[in-house]
Amino acid sequence: MELANCPRCGKLFARHFRDICPSCVKVIEKEYEACAEYLRKHRGATITELSDATGVTIRQITKFIKEGRISLYNAPNMSYPCEVCGVLIREGNMCDNCRTRLSKQVRLASEGKSSDRQSDHARSESAYQINNWPKDR
Ligand SMILES: [Zn+2]
Ligand SMILES: [Zn+2]
Repeated sequence: MELANCPRCGKLFARHFRDICPSCVKVIEKEYEACAEYLRKHRGATITELSDATGVTIRQITKFIKEGRISLYNAPNMSYPCEVCGVLIREGNMCDNCRTRLSKQVRLASEGKSSDRQSDHARSESAYQINNWPKDR
């Protein structure tokens, strides 16, 4: 049996099927039911309204959404925060801005590397040509 500290309440528990302890599982189930219930009555609720009304943290609601337990199809105004900047989004883990910025950074980093390699290559090539040039003529 594997013992672990519950990441939610810090209590030591026997980890069987879940990553959190049984009492937290129960609490989260209750929280989920409260959210689902509220959304049944208020389909147009936003995540802040839902959090205010149920007392469930936005973080936890975001988890429900990402786990697919709360469906955004049935909640047209529901969204969750971008993992990087916190802007509200409806798909993926990041907003468009952060995604663009991140992919640009990745591209710049890889371009930086490859252009270094290229100029090294160019340098050794021109050195080779200079060394061999008199012989070739
Ligand atoms: Zn716990
Ligand atoms: Zn963002």
